[in-house]
Amino acid sequence: MNLFALLDQAARQFPDRGAVYHGRHRCSTWSELRDRALRLAGALRGRYPAGARIAIASENRPEIVELLYGIWAAECVAVPINYKLHPREMAQILDDASVSHVFASQAIADQLDSGYPVENVEGEDYSHWLTGAPVAAPTTDPSTLAWLFYTSGTTGRSKGAMLTHRNLMAMTVAHLADMDSPDERCSLIHAAPMSHGSGLYIPAYVVRGARQVIPEGGGFDPAEFLDLCEHHPGSSAFLAPTMVQRVIATGRPRPSALQTIVYGGGPMYVDSIKKALAAFGPVFTQIYGQGESPMTITGLRRADYDDADDAILGSVGRARTGMEVAVLRGDDTPAAVGEIGEIVCRGDVVMSGYWRNPVATGETLRGGWLRTGDMGSFDARGYLTLHDRSKDVVISGGSNIYPREVEEALLEHPAVSEACVVGAPDAEWGEIVVAFIVIGGADEISTADLDAHLLQRIARFKRPKRYLAVDDLPKNSYGKVLKKDLRQRLSK
Ligand code: AMP
Repeated sequence: MNLFALLDQAARQFPDRGAVYHGRHRCSTWSELRDRALRLAGALRGRYPAGARIAIASENRPEIVELLYGIWAAECVAVPINYKLHPREMAQILDDASVSHVFASQAIADQLDSGYPVENVEGEDYSHWLTGAPVAAPTTDPSTLAWLFYTSGTTGRSKGAMLTHRNLMAMTVAHLADMDSPDERCSLIHAAPMSHGSGLYIPAYVVRGARQVIPEGGGFDPAEFLDLCEHHPGSSAFLAPTMVQRVIATGRPRPSALQTIVYGGGPMYVDSIKKALAAFGPVFTQIYGQGESPMTITGLRRADYDDADDAILGSVGRARTGMEVAVLRGDDTPAAVGEIGEIVCRGDVVMSGYWRNPVATGETLRGGWLRTGDMGSFDARGYLTLHDRSKDVVISGGSNIYPREVEEALLEHPAVSEACVVGAPDAEWGEIVVAFIVIGGADEISTADLDAHLLQRIARFKRPKRYLAVDDLPKNSYGKVLKKDLRQRLSK
């Protein structure tokens, strides 16, 4: 089965309903979108063989939807690239994937000096791709590659996770089973990058005939996002935790048409989700996933928030539909309830490996499990708490200290608006805990004040030995804090 079948289904059921919107403006109906995708596939097929990698490098734009389906209908492989990357980082991905062609927005086409054919999707020539003969709807072996997903590379160089049609179909089914149940009177607002989280959700909403709404600004503007949620019926969106906080910080009430916000991709601290629930009510669900198991390892379903205690709110939920999730000790035996180990998972969502990287594939897909590199523990109810990536755990005086716990406690201080905890080498302790903090609610705070605050919340040995106030935390283009940059600062 080819993911194109989902668009085919929507076009049959809802031919004349609106499919893709740019802001409030309707760009195509479902039957028009199907037709455009099949013509694009025809043009691609005329130039490239099945399996060719076709990059999409653009801010969020309406063309991305037809490009994905056109690429899939041509049985080529989509390589969506985050538009916020530096042109050099983009070029690295294009080289690694040996792409045949790049579809880019005007802004990116102007910057890319890639040596590959680049088509500016905002230019006049792009229409040539849509006016030729359409291909017939494809029947494809589901183990065929559909999406080369470049990981965000917070712990090393970005790698291409190979996602097949089966992987993305399993992800789609799990989303509809656990997280959201849209229909043709609903809308998916693409607030987060379509090259990643938001784009991965396209098929789940397409198959139900829900509108694909792309904000006109291209990037994320909380006010525009809320306006679009108000305008379009039954809106849902995927937001990174920092985006949720920015939306709540607008102080605006929940738009009445907003139904679901799925958050994930990084830690949502208990204090922040409580504030979000107080402001918007029970519209939230959470996913924990990674490029290697897209959007789907564990999650908090809507019902999990009813009377949720702090342990549930601070967790990443329970195993998703179709996924087996376990926590393993260093010797690969299962950890006991409450014991921290490496989180592993298996299921149809898990990638088939890293693109042209058998060594990394062998390390990551060992013994039939995907090794996530994240440390976690299950409670007796089956909720998984994520502690940190294994590389981020601080070992001080022989004790493991999980930065997330210290960060949670620091964030409960009214004057701390952001916190990030890392380990720094130390002759006496092996490593010491260092906290970088962004002060939000006061001119300054003293170390003694922070110490006193933490001593009421966490064990003495977990307290940072150094606090460093910073204006902001270094983040990558996905909004994830770059701990390795903070560690580097300490080693200088
Ligand atoms: P990426 O492959 O770039 O999407 O990064 C995946 C990593 O982000 C995971 O391995 C986790 O470390 C982190 N992550 C994903 N979802 C969550 C979540 N809900 N809470 C905390 N961290 C998360």
